[in-house]
Amino acid sequence: MKIIMLGAPGAGKGTQAKQIAGKYNIPHISTGDIFRANIKNGTDLGKKAKEYMDQGLLVPDELTCDLVMDRISHDDCKNGFVLDGFPRTIPQAEALDEALKKIGQSMDFAINVDVPDSHIVNRMSGRRACLGCGATYHVVAIPPKKEGICDICGSELVLRDDDKPETVQKRLDVYHEQTQPLIEYYDKQGILKTVDGTMQMEDVFASIAKILGA
Ligand code: AMP
Repeated sequence: MKIIMLGAPGAGKGTQAKQIAGKYNIPHISTGDIFRANIKNGTDLGKKAKEYMDQGLLVPDELTCDLVMDRISHDDCKNGFVLDGFPRTIPQAEALDEALKKIGQSMDFAINVDVPDSHIVNRMSGRRACLGCGATYHVVAIPPKKEGICDICGSELVLRDDDKPETVQKRLDVYHEQTQPLIEYYDKQGILKTVDGTMQMEDVFASIAKILGA
């Protein structure tokens, strides 16, 4: 099963993507996580990506597409994958379709986790990320067992630079301008499914599982 998660930054698509990956035993591929790992490891890609990420801008398509195409060609993706944060532009979606077409495949579902902007700004200010393993929490919705400490690896939890309020508004503007057109793109392909992302996390997941035919 090949799934794309769509939704504004902070809509909860990452949390849902991880659950889908676990339930269907397919890899969770998050371009944001890949960029953050590169930043942490000080790679050239990480240095270039950081310049854009810190401003709430998208990393250019030419830096993003090849890395995803390479990742989905790995053996562990042969039964499917869940893409989280990719595609984010129409050219990225076209590049993905093109790459899959070459191997006689296509995406199965594009799941749009729909949340109004007003909810997003509140949510993002409570988000915390682990400096060690990248796990994400929310001070109210998904608190760690011990405040400020990651349950998984024990590292410190921080508010990511790109989750700071001034950057969040910029990311939302970028989302509406560059990513929202993908909703129509996948609707035209007949694979778009929209879920109400303002519900409790478990209810959002139940709606998604129903769509995927759990
Ligand atoms: P995320 O963790 O998915 O919210 O991504 C964090 C940041 O990484 C975004 O605000 C972008 O700067 C960058 N990024 C992640 N995925 C993409 C993508 N598909 N295209 C361009 N930039 C991306």
